[in-house]
Amino acid sequence: AQQKLQRIKTTKAVTVDGIAIDLLANIEVPEDVISAKASGAAGVGLYRTEFLFMNRADMPDEQEQFEAYRHVAEAMKGYPVTIRTLDIGADKQLNPDEVVTATNPALGLRAVRYCLSEPHIFHTQFRALLRASHYGQVKILIPMLSNLAELRQSKLLLQRAKESLRKENIPFDEQISLGGMIEVPAAAISAEAFAQELDFLSIGTNDLIQYTLAIDRADDAVAHLYNPLHPAVLKLINWTIQAAQKYQKPVSVCGEMAGDTRLTRLLVGMGMRQLSMHPSHILSVKSQILQSEEAVLGKQAKKILSLSDLDKIEPLVNRLNGTQM
Ligand code: PEP
Ligand code: MG
Repeated sequence: AQQKLQRIKTTKAVTVDGIAIDLLANIEVPEDVISAKASGAAGVGLYRTEFLFMNRADMPDEQEQFEAYRHVAEAMKGYPVTIRTLDIGADKQLNPDEVVTATNPALGLRAVRYCLSEPHIFHTQFRALLRASHYGQVKILIPMLSNLAELRQSKLLLQRAKESLRKENIPFDEQISLGGMIEVPAAAISAEAFAQELDFLSIGTNDLIQYTLAIDRADDAVAHLYNPLHPAVLKLINWTIQAAQKYQKPVSVCGEMAGDTRLTRLLVGMGMRQLSMHPSHILSVKSQILQSEEAVLGKQAKKILSLSDLDKIEPLVNRLNGTQM
């Protein structure tokens, strides 16, 4: 089966009725570009930069960050590379030995909240990202936005980083795209506002499920309740896609749902045209797409979205996977 999949490595991911889907890679360290390229990914949809900051005593300085980001941008030349700003906290602690004092770290000072509270860290990362944008097609992605004020403050800091580079005559992509992760229910519900103020949206389903269903993504005791097909989760994803379409902004899924072949047809039917996943899933997801007819999926997805009973949704999703060619 693996050999058969290898044959479609350079085939474009297009449905039987001609709808193209971008299949992108999630990476955690610069060396991951090797597996991203080997999988035939159409770019990097999510580069989780926190791994550069974790398990060490000091912070990576601007130059170290710049070199890591430039490496990925250059290695993926010709393809987009979406780099996420520091998403630290909760399941991704800077220093694992540090005692976490927050009562609910997942609801605490993590991701963009942390960066806005440490603006010098944000400034340094923005400068490194901007510098790397001169060497490839870099896009910046802000994690865990929950209100517009966070977005506006982030934009202001990005603006300041740009100005500081201009003053030093350091080149960067003046047209660099800024996207936001939709992974907090508040952001999904406010997706129209975010779609208006951002260049693209990326749905982080891992956290969106955690926060929508109030299930700690790392707690085994409640793992059986963690279901991506919960109607509330599907409705928030659908709402986000609709908002992005309304303002003609690209939208992707970069959580684990994107790499789950059981969900590929449902997501495509809901209108998703970009999926970013661990490189090891790209070929099997592509295989699903090559055997799918979007027009059929669209009708079925509508029906599934109209349901509010998980027991009715699951068999329909299974049928969706069984009936296609
Ligand atoms: C997500 O939350 O779905 C996501 C892609 O980000 P992470 O898993 O790194 O939190
Ligand atoms: Mg997340």
